[in-house]
Amino acid sequence: MKTIGLLGGMSWESTREYYRLINEKVRKHLGGLHSAEILMASVDFQPLSTAMEKGDWDSIRKVLLERTRLLKDAGTDLLLICTNTMHKFASDIATAAEPVKLIHIGECTAAEASRQGYKKVALLGTRFTMEEDFYRVKLEAAGLVVLIPEEKEREWINKLIFRELCAGIFKEESRRRIAEITEKLAEEGAEAVVLGCTELPLILTPEESPLPILDTMEIHAEAAVKAALA
Ligand code: GLU
Repeated sequence: MKTIGLLGGMSWESTREYYRLINEKVRKHLGGLHSAEILMASVDFQPLSTAMEKGDWDSIRKVLLERTRLLKDAGTDLLLICTNTMHKFASDIATAAEPVKLIHIGECTAAEASRQGYKKVALLGTRFTMEEDFYRVKLEAAGLVVLIPEEKEREWINKLIFRELCAGIFKEESRRRIAEITEKLAEEGAEAVVLGCTELPLILTPEESPLPILDTMEIHAEAAVKAALA
């Protein structure tokens, strides 16, 4: 079994779900008391989220590259960045990690969306993930049409992620609002919703979602386990 390196803590609310999902999947595949070989570098998220607000991306890149080297030197075979947003630095991180393979969350999600036959998907995530190119291009490269919420809603989702979900706060009213935003995108023709933030599956469950969910964290964890057991 290959060792899976997790670049986590962004936030730890979702990183612990990665840890659980990966271990559960390994147990399902191998049975008995089998569990995953994992190395984790988990960061203090406050300084990074402050830097994001200020647009100080250089200092974030520095921290992530340093942790990547730590995981590589510790002997990881595979690398996962446990957040969609920080895939903004995916190509720098992939280069620093070489020959360790970076498993890209957007590429896995695009492949899964195509496998399930979707053509038009809604994308929810931080405003960076929804508005910038780095994530959307991965979906579009797979031939998907990507819809995002309107500006006011994007702002609200971004606040929800940083002020509530990353802080472990899950409110019923927020769940309802995110479902309403998803419903609007369904009316615009989206066939499924990409939960392009690893905390979003913690608040919007398949039962409560107006659209079928593409849970990026689950898809990413599944790809990691497949690669680790290959
Ligand atoms: N975990 C989130 C994501 O998947 C947001 C936190 C971050 O900015 O890294 O995008």
